[in-house]
Amino acid sequence: MTIQSVGVIGAGQMGNGIAHVFALAGFDVLLTDISREAMDKALALIGKNLDRQISRDKISTADKDAALGRIKTTSQLSDLGQCDLVIEAATERETVKQAIFEDLLPHLKPETILASNTSSISITRLASRTDRPERFMGVHFMNPVPVMQLVELIRGIATDQETYQKLVAVVEKIGKTAASAEDFPAFIVNRILMPMINEAVYTLYEGVGNVKSIDESMKLGANWPMGPLELADFIGLDTCLAIMGVLHDGLADTKYRPCPLLVKYVEAGWLGRKTGRGFYDYSGETPVPTR
Ligand code: NAD
Repeated sequence: MTIQSVGVIGAGQMGNGIAHVFALAGFDVLLTDISREAMDKALALIGKNLDRQISRDKISTADKDAALGRIKTTSQLSDLGQCDLVIEAATERETVKQAIFEDLLPHLKPETILASNTSSISITRLASRTDRPERFMGVHFMNPVPVMQLVELIRGIATDQETYQKLVAVVEKIGKTAASAEDFPAFIVNRILMPMINEAVYTLYEGVGNVKSIDESMKLGANWPMGPLELADFIGLDTCLAIMGVLHDGLADTKYRPCPLLVKYVEAGWLGRKTGRGFYDYSGETPVPTR
């Protein structure tokens, strides 16, 4: 089976980017979300991001029109039954992902490959609750998907070689670079990145620096293109907290303890850019530090 049609579940920050890159590479994309508003927003954003690529001479107007023409949306999960590859990119909560798979599986073709874009949850455990652990994989895109080059590929213990090879080929076809990671909590990128972000929040919590000084220090002193708090807001503070929770539970080491200030921000609904407030306030023209 060659992969031609791709289902994407979740039309948030990651889902819209995943739909974008697959459509641009010539795949037929079917995008779904529990929220109609999220799907409408995703389509508008994909159009805007394609325009940005046109203005930078990366693609032509014809490429944009063709890509948009290949993306369809649906609110019925069962419509994804005919896709050759389905990528789940819904909220980073294991119960949410499991419930999606339960609803989806009865509709899937036996040969369809199922993948999750999870940032941290065990691929082996997610796969074990499906009818196809050998055709289940972690395919971890980076944010923003159209810009970032890396895709982490994570095999569960039961993933077969054919599935892995097919996804290596798919990653190549969308013009990205695959890195293989073993199935341990948060894989490679977030195992390293998220404790650094969490430590930046501790630095703020303990008053070592304020939002501006912490971000500036890491930009000018460590050559980070974005400060850690700015990056946390960009990723989503709920996602950051969920990943720290997986590291803490999965590796049972107190060094992964989520910072109480991060917990408090999430409890307040201050999730970063996507809610208009996190470590910065995004209501005006330029982001303003909140501490
Ligand atoms: P998001 O909050 O922007 O989007 C999640 C979307 O999932 C929302 O639109 C929500 O309505 C939808 N959703 C929730 N339950 C659903 C269901 N039952 N069926 C269909 N849709 C449902 O989150 P995001 O940042 O796009 O993250 C999505 C996934 O990608 C998570 O697993 C996250 O860990 C992973 N990820 C995130 C980043 C990042 O930087 N944000 C990077 C790599 C991977």
